[in-house]
Amino acid sequence: MLKLPIYLDNNATTPVDPEVLQTMLPYFTEHFGNAASRNHSFGWVAEEAVTQAREQVAQLIHAEPAEIVFTSGATEAINLAMKGAYEMYSTKGNHIITCVTEHKAVLDTCRHLEKSGAELTYLRVNSDGIIDPEALEAAIRPNTILISIMMANNETGVLHPVKAIGALAKAHGILFFTDATQAVGKIPVDVQADNIDMLCLSAHKIYGPKGAGALYVRRKNPRVRLAAQIDGGGHEKGMRSGTLNVPGIVALGKCCSLCVQKVDEESKRITALRDQLEKNLTQLNVIKINGNTAHRLPNVTNLSFAGIPGDRLLREISRTIAVSSGSACTSANPEPSHVLKAMGVTDDLAKSSIRFGLGRFTTQEEIEYAIDKVKKIAANL
Ligand SMILES: *Cc1c(COP(=O)(O)O)cnc(C)c1O
Repeated sequence: MLKLPIYLDNNATTPVDPEVLQTMLPYFTEHFGNAASRNHSFGWVAEEAVTQAREQVAQLIHAEPAEIVFTSGATEAINLAMKGAYEMYSTKGNHIITCVTEHKAVLDTCRHLEKSGAELTYLRVNSDGIIDPEALEAAIRPNTILISIMMANNETGVLHPVKAIGALAKAHGILFFTDATQAVGKIPVDVQADNIDMLCLSAHKIYGPKGAGALYVRRKNPRVRLAAQIDGGGHEKGMRSGTLNVPGIVALGKCCSLCVQKVDEESKRITALRDQLEKNLTQLNVIKINGNTAHRLPNVTNLSFAGIPGDRLLREISRTIAVSSGSACTSANPEPSHVLKAMGVTDDLAKSSIRFGLGRFTTQEEIEYAIDKVKKIAANL
């Protein structure tokens, strides 16, 4: 039997995988030690678990365990990467290149840095939602210290040409940070092959708990140095102080090892479901896909419903299907999505656009229900 409501908002957050929950539970109770306690087995057990999780996270993105800094999530990792690099490399320059369709966590950090004296270039995107590497190269100046471009967009799933960006950054001796919060675990990610210097990820987007994440910080060619944004006991090589969230970190490690195991098969299954949803809904003339469809995450489709009022559409769909318009972080305000606007979508059409985010636990039956329901609603409105 189909259970309602159906959850198709996996880009906002994901449920915790039962295997992940089982793995983390003992670290609340019998293995509750502080990973920094060096004098007894409670501490050693916790530290060992953290060490294993560091290896699991590193493996998923082809990094070294020593390059992983645990944080409270992607937002904190973004703040550490960008503010930490800005402070540390201020003698080299103050210019940062980013993109207009970034997540608010990046854009708001950029605003903060501008107030502190940084010069920002916000690259535009084409109607597909992708930046032009030539425009990126043209934006590079002698005082450019950082390029921050996301791997996959959270509203459309569109992928930027990260390999080309990494190559450009390397050729010019500029650090490259990518917000890979949506991409990690959904597509193969390789910080070596793509010349990525820093990368953030978050447990709750890959079937783990909220409040755990990581920043990858390259240690060789070049060795990236960051000014800590949270001072204290010198945890995480001095880059992020504070007692480690051992259960959250254990969970994040497990999430990553499950992704390593499942990414190929899961992305095939989810792509097929997403394509089925898309193919059936776009049979209605008013429904169109936003963003590039060739370079995209397997699990997302962002659809515009021309001529249908967005608030009514979302209200009707939301009765039985959890979806969102724009990102969860900005959907409290009724402004049209900054991502879709940047792609040249009109305000009205952007307001009538819905993001469907499939996940590990999405079933064929649920997609069939969604097709039927959304078609009926669109026809009615
Ligand atoms: C969810 C998300 C974030 C924020 O992650 P948190 O772990 O919730 O802080 C940042 N960037 C992108 C692209 C996201 O999807």
